[in-house]
Amino acid sequence: MRVGIGYDIHRLVEGRPLILGGVSIAYEKGLLGHSDADVLVHAVCDALLGAAGLGDIGIHFPDSDPQYKDISSLKLLSATCQLLTAEGFRILNLDATLFAEAPKLAPHRQKMQAILSQTMNIKPNEVNIKATTTEGLGVIGKGEGIGAMCIALID
Ligand code: MG
Repeated sequence: MRVGIGYDIHRLVEGRPLILGGVSIAYEKGLLGHSDADVLVHAVCDALLGAAGLGDIGIHFPDSDPQYKDISSLKLLSATCQLLTAEGFRILNLDATLFAEAPKLAPHRQKMQAILSQTMNIKPNEVNIKATTTEGLGVIGKGEGIGAMCIALID
């Protein structure tokens, strides 16, 4: 078995949709990025690629490449899963945490788990998603961005 870790953070800005774990969330701001800036999915991709020894999301899907402009990060996750499958790996489970001061993310957890597990073709209880604030501390606590961490186990 092999483990990998992923971490990502994106800036919150006005005029962008907020998409986390493939779910569109009603909020006054969204995450800035070349793709849809789904910080949770990016952390998941990095954890999977890390576990497989396949580098990171920036190597496979560079943000300088116009084909990834505003792309759904779920497509990047699908492509990541294909890379793992091609190497003979299978996902055992993932555990992820979102860091956001606002909006409240708990109501969206189950939908995120459903979408991510479907995209990775694993069971919903094999993708655990948690959310926490940072108690007002730091850039996340000030609402300047949203972060995510993920650990993946594969074999
Ligand atoms: Mg990212």
